[in-house]
Amino acid sequence: MNAELRYEGVPGSELDRIRCNSYDDFGNAVVSRTSGGGEPLRCCLTLAGAGERIALVAHRPMEAGGPYAEVGPVFVHVTDCLGPDEGFPIDFRDRRAVLRPYDVAGQMLDGVVAEAGTSETELKRLFEDPAVDTVQSRNLVAGCWNFTVRRQA
Ligand SMILES: [Zn+2]
Repeated sequence: MNAELRYEGVPGSELDRIRCNSYDDFGNAVVSRTSGGGEPLRCCLTLAGAGERIALVAHRPMEAGGPYAEVGPVFVHVTDCLGPDEGFPIDFRDRRAVLRPYDVAGQMLDGVVAEAGTSETELKRLFEDPAVDTVQSRNLVAGCWNFTVRRQA
């Protein structure tokens, strides 16, 4: 099985809500700050450029809920951006990551640590298991969610 994969950041509808309300979905005010450069943005799956306006907000990447539906901090652009390009997010390629697979019921399966430059290959390998519905890429040290991966519909 060699399915095409889709890489998803924070959904556009949630970003619209956060930017419109100036609060995230968990009641935290959106506090705009100037990027020092290099913060991973989960709206467009790029690294922030120095001087860009960004904010740290709370996000729950698993919409269906359940015990594995963790809420955590993510950086986003304060104002509208173009969203992610298709394909593996290049800016995340050389970062170490934890890849956590989940089944369709949202239960976590065996995860792996992906060394720098190996996430894309590891993701393809994880999706060879038909039980895997989604995979979350997370920061190795902080555990923060980077993006969710699923098979193209
Ligand atoms: Zn963005």
